[in-house]
Amino acid sequence: MDIAQTGLWGFGEGPLIIAGPCSAESEEQLLATAEALKATGRVHLFRAGLWKPRSRPSTFPGEGFRALEWLKRVKAETGLPVAVEVASPEHAAACLEAGIDALWLGARTVSNPFSVEAIACALNGATIPVLVKNPLSPDLELWIGAIERVYGAGIRKIAAIHRGFTPYEKSRYRNIPKWELAIELRSRIPSLPVICDPSHMSGKAALVPETAQKALDMNMAGLMVEVHIDPTHALSDKDQQLDPQGFTKMMHELVFRTSAPDDAGSTNQLEEMRNRIDSIDYQIIGLLAARMRISEEMGEFKCRSGVTVFQLERWLEILRTRTEQGSVEGLGEEFTGRIIRMIHEESIRCQDEVMKKLRNAGGCSPAPEEGEEQ
Ligand code: PEP
Ligand code: MN
Repeated sequence: MDIAQTGLWGFGEGPLIIAGPCSAESEEQLLATAEALKATGRVHLFRAGLWKPRSRPSTFPGEGFRALEWLKRVKAETGLPVAVEVASPEHAAACLEAGIDALWLGARTVSNPFSVEAIACALNGATIPVLVKNPLSPDLELWIGAIERVYGAGIRKIAAIHRGFTPYEKSRYRNIPKWELAIELRSRIPSLPVICDPSHMSGKAALVPETAQKALDMNMAGLMVEVHIDPTHALSDKDQQLDPQGFTKMMHELVFRTSAPDDAGSTNQLEEMRNRIDSIDYQIIGLLAARMRISEEMGEFKCRSGVTVFQLERWLEILRTRTEQGSVEGLGEEFTGRIIRMIHEESIRCQDEVMKKLRNAGGCSPAPEEGEEQ
């Protein structure tokens, strides 16, 4: 794919900074937020949601088509270009008609290829930049498919927005980053700029700056940040929106990477290889964490059924089968052995800890006698 880089879109140089409220709630709220953001001098593009894809029907659905007029006023009075989320061909046509400067497809829309196809059809022949958020589930093919559909409509100003994936367990983030997927996307489509949305990813204003920094450290092409003039009274996503002061502080504190490669070709090659290494490392860490979670479950199970944590035959079998597999894959026996020993040690420690906790809470069969194998 031959995708235009964000620097060529006419919004400005450096990482593309998109900021604005989750939703357009009133003309006053929109203008006050846009004026405060304009004053920071750090924003390339003002965002606002007009049609809100809410999980529950009783929540604020957005102001809809009429808010396009408010955005026109924002643009006329502040000079900031404006971006809107579109979820249907009608939204897309209305935005083109209103002279909106950029569009984005939300996570829910990208999850449905029919919707993406219908919007792409409505955009055929347009030159407007289109940002494609990741789908709700960590499905890279679905994300790439949406990008291909937009590209197929002739759009060349495309960027992906990494906003994380719906968790199925309680997590620190509202949407689990799974950074490795964004890295994998970048290695699959090297010309595609990938922007991070730390607001939807973290779900909490306090976590936005560190998430944004992490994205910049990973050399993302920009940030989309939710900023509201008065977040406590926001009609949607109030916990995660920064106020203009918080945004200004964050922008001052963020460290932007300055890499000025002499030889762009070889730097890109190196970058691409590093991306692949990063992706694998994140996968290894994710797998190790998943393994340790199972260890914790096993600790509980063993505790309740009175089984000891350590069983010699099981350990010898693990060591043997893993080093054999390592040799098949071309890894040295000593290396695989060392790694698997470390992992096993940590697993035993996890199980022990769970057992101790359960015993202290009186929820386990008695501890084994002194001297019994542990
Ligand atoms: C939004 O940007 O306000 C939004 C609805 O985001 P997402 O599609 O990432 O949930
Ligand atoms: Mn939002």
